Amino acid sequence: MSVMLSLQNVSFTYHSEEGEQPALWDISFQVEKGEFVAIIGPSGCGKSTLLSLISGLNTPEKGNITLYSSQNTQTNIGYMLQKDHLFEWRTIYRNVILGPEINKNLTKEKEAHIEQMLDTYGLAEFKYKKPSELSGGMRQRAALIRTLAMEPDLLLLDEPFSALDYQTRISVADDIGMIIKRERKTAILVTHDLSEAISLADRVIVLTKRPAVVKTIIPIELSIENRTPFTSRNAPEFKDYFNLLWKELGAGGV
Ligand code: ADP
Ligand code: MG
Repeated sequence: MSVMLSLQNVSFTYHSEEGEQPALWDISFQVEKGEFVAIIGPSGCGKSTLLSLISGLNTPEKGNITLYSSQNTQTNIGYMLQKDHLFEWRTIYRNVILGPEINKNLTKEKEAHIEQMLDTYGLAEFKYKKPSELSGGMRQRAALIRTLAMEPDLLLLDEPFSALDYQTRISVADDIGMIIKRERKTAILVTHDLSEAISLADRVIVLTKRPAVVKTIIPIELSIENRTPFTSRNAPEFKDYFNLLWKELGAGGV
């Protein structure tokens, strides 16, 4: 395994007219290539801020963030948010090719890869539909394919399932988790859903309330073969991890 992302003693404060708002304090952790890391913490503690620093949208006030890429190229980062931000005036196909189209590098090869993903992940027959004709789950799948079309090395997922109702959320989270594993992507998922974190992640990073400090990092080891997000939920250790994370967050912490 090789390290893909490293944060060393990262701190960040928002400066606004109302004053200083410290958001992150002395955050250090690493993410390995191919790893799926979940970040949980109380609402407003600084999780989205942390992703904005990793993506380079904001710069740390103190500390370092290093991204290592396998080639000598810049690490490509893909972002997935709670809202799928699909354009209603474009078909699903024209939505998922948007990134390469904007970058003017929609090669035949890229097009074939995108077609193949639509096919593999059950969206081929919806190619020429409008986003409003798809279910919430299928829309998130389309949003993921649009993100993957950019060939990201690292995926940042900021509560991408929280707009969905409970049942849909479980199946969409499983679905998206499987696709990310199958495409061998490295991913960081911010979520407030403990079960989602345990079922998807190799490790869970628990943050304290604002300004967020890393409270603990818990590796998830489940004694089931061919672990998938869905089967993870049936692992005998699942409940113990749930209780442990619940305790680490503190009562009423979520
Ligand atoms: P989370 O994603 O964990 O809910 P955020 O990272 O969005 O938390 O926000 C962390 C804290 O920083 C919150 O208290 C929020 O109000 C504050 N914050 C977020 N964005 C800004 C901003 N642009 N200016 C000032 N404060 C902000
Ligand atoms: Mg947030």
